[in-house]
Amino acid sequence: MKIRASIGTAAALGLEKIRVLVKPTTAYLMLYSESHCQSNCMFCSQARDSQGNTNQLSRVLWPVYDLSELIERFETIDSGIKRICIQTIRFENSTTDLMNILTMLSKSSIIIPLTVCSYPVTKTEFEEMKTLGVKRVGISFDCATPELFDKIKGSKRGVDISWQTLEKAMVDAMEVFGNRFVSTHLIIGLGETEQQAVNFLQRFYDKKVTVGLFAFTPVRGTDLEKLPQPEMASYRRIQLARYLIFKGTSSFSNMSFSEEGTIIDFGTPSVEIKNALVSGKPFKTSGCPHCNRPFYNESPGKELYNFPTDLNSQELSEVEQYFTKFMN
Ligand code: SF4
Repeated sequence: MKIRASIGTAAALGLEKIRVLVKPTTAYLMLYSESHCQSNCMFCSQARDSQGNTNQLSRVLWPVYDLSELIERFETIDSGIKRICIQTIRFENSTTDLMNILTMLSKSSIIIPLTVCSYPVTKTEFEEMKTLGVKRVGISFDCATPELFDKIKGSKRGVDISWQTLEKAMVDAMEVFGNRFVSTHLIIGLGETEQQAVNFLQRFYDKKVTVGLFAFTPVRGTDLEKLPQPEMASYRRIQLARYLIFKGTSSFSNMSFSEEGTIIDFGTPSVEIKNALVSGKPFKTSGCPHCNRPFYNESPGKELYNFPTDLNSQELSEVEQYFTKFMN
């Protein structure tokens, strides 16, 4: 059975002889299809109307492999991988393909926790996934508001999946997997304000849903190929806000925003900010446990949006620069 794997995952499994600067601690797999996805997200090379490459997701290459060979590698190689995440795309019989992949994995000796980053399916299908060994699901809203959702990946893109469809699927997923075992993604740089992004973070934190932060990354052949990446200072503020909210040391209602919706106060004592900065934790890749997504949003050598490993002292001091005005 054909399946895609990110090039870093393939390298960690010894299937690609390439130099990897940072190994993934999650194996990123994706359903394989000859065609583009039936969804039509403006930022995605898989999208129905995209002229982009289907062997790409964000800026990363995802070649095609045989699932049996991947399974054999998982079973025999000490890859350091601590989670497997299967990214779904929508095509005819895609859910059947997903269940077949899960069945093959469930028959293997692999015991690594399994996440499915899923388009909305029925509650019965979530239950089937759980029976086949899935521990967590991701349901990606990606956009900070329902209006942006419609514009970027919903009705205005000719897609029959709405914000409400995802909310319903998320409720079902929580009932099947438990609300601490459901994640979502938020992409920063699609036109939201920091205030809208932080409001999104608070809403999902209140539902006990894990939020993985992504920085918008322009991909050739997509409708957003000319859109610049988000300003780093703004992304850093949102990362810190996420960390303080998920740590319970601040909240959306405690924070203050400018008229343009920029964070001007984190609503917590500067000692809390100092401790967070010194730890570096707010700036590491966020999402499911062990999801580190190396260089998913930036190329090696460029300033990292999400750090896939602990920050070193130079990186810590670089990050701290963005918060001097908050440290009084
Ligand atoms: S946070 Fe990571 S592991 Fe979780 S669904 Fe998203 S990409 Fe997959």
